[in-house]
Amino acid sequence: MHPEYIVIHTAAFNGKNCDRDMIDQWHKARNWSGIGYHFVILNDNHSQKADGIVENGRATNKMGAHALGLNDRSLGICCIGHGDKNDFTAAQYESLYGLIRRLMTEFSIPLANVIGHREMNNLVEQELVSSRYRTSKSCPGNKIDMDFIREQLSSEMVSSDVEIPVFSVEARLAMANAIAVLQQHRAQFPNAQDELDEFIYHPEIIAMTH
Ligand SMILES: [Zn+2]
Repeated sequence: MHPEYIVIHTAAFNGKNCDRDMIDQWHKARNWSGIGYHFVILNDNHSQKADGIVENGRATNKMGAHALGLNDRSLGICCIGHGDKNDFTAAQYESLYGLIRRLMTEFSIPLANVIGHREMNNLVEQELVSSRYRTSKSCPGNKIDMDFIREQLSSEMVSSDVEIPVFSVEARLAMANAIAVLQQHRAQFPNAQDELDEFIYHPEIIAMTH
């Protein structure tokens, strides 16, 4: 699958300890092969895991199950919490921006193709998606302003308040390769998954490798 869009979702669930594994169980109960999203971003309602942690769902080379009519062309990111009731947390936004920037670079996805689930309807209007996939969902939630998210992404991509250290091209490539090795072998570190995510998706690491 070559993703052309990034679709943002809410779990629409305010219960405690919601994470990748819980969603995996929900989706298996629907007789799906497992979690339909490619990434999950936790909030501050988990007793073991930190606010803003990014968990991997379905592999990015596998078609997801999260936006009917667009699954074969998109990656799905689910933010834990209920977007109709609460905004995402600051840590979730920070992780969301880092993750989206990384995916936009990796898959050459333009900013205009970073959409909220409900914006599927804009694609229907533009006849990019069949009208049978029009959605009545508010996902990622009424509290979530997709234009604001895109504005933040565009301003963060041209300028940053953080001083970015200068690394040589060789150092950046070596780090990108090291991260690829970590990703490839991450299953061999079952007790370090959260720490690996924290490192791999840390904004400073992402800034260095892109
Ligand atoms: Zn959704």
